[in-house]
Amino acid sequence: MSERVALFPGSFRPFTLGHSSIVERGLSLFDRIVIAVGFNRDKDPDELEVEETVRTIAALYAGEPRVEVMSYSGLTVDAAAACGAQFLLRGVRSVKDFEYERDLADVNRKLSGIETVLFYSLPELSALSSSIVRELKSYGVDTSEFLP
Ligand code: ADP
Repeated sequence: MSERVALFPGSFRPFTLGHSSIVERGLSLFDRIVIAVGFNRDKDPDELEVEETVRTIAALYAGEPRVEVMSYSGLTVDAAAACGAQFLLRGVRSVKDFEYERDLADVNRKLSGIETVLFYSLPELSALSSSIVRELKSYGVDTSEFLP
C-alpha cells in the first residue's frame, strides 16, 4: 500500500476539541486524513450550514497539507472510495459510543470491505460532544473553550 488515507466522517455540528484530537492522533497513523462532513439531503442541517462547517474546519487545517475537508451525502463507504481512503477513522468516548461504532464498522466492512480504526477519546475530552456544545450555545453560554 503506497499512501495510507483515512476518511474521518461525522456531522461535526460543531467540530470540537474531541474531533481535532482524533485528527491529530490519526496523523501518526495515516499519510492523509479527509474530514468528511456528512449530511442527509432530506433533513437538517441544510447544505449552506454544511458548507459553512466545511469552511470552518478547512480554515483550521489551512497550514496542514495532510488534512482535507469535504462534504458528502449518501453512503460513507462511497465517500471513502471517491477520495481513495482505505480506512475510516472514528472516536469512542463511552460504552454507548462503542456499541454504535461497532455496528457502523460492521456495516461498512460488509458494504465495501473497508476497515474502521477507532481511537479512544482522551480522558479529559470524554464528556465532550457536539450536542452538548449546541445545547450550551442555545442558552447563550460561551463554548469557545470546547472548540479548536
Ligand atoms: P456522528 O453524528 O457521525 O456520530 P459526530 O460529529 O458526532 O458524528 O462525531 C464524529 C466522530 O467523532 C464519532 O466517531 C464520535 O464518536 C467522535 N467523537 C466526538 N466527540 C469526541 C470526543 N470528545 N472524543 C473522541 N471522539 C469523539
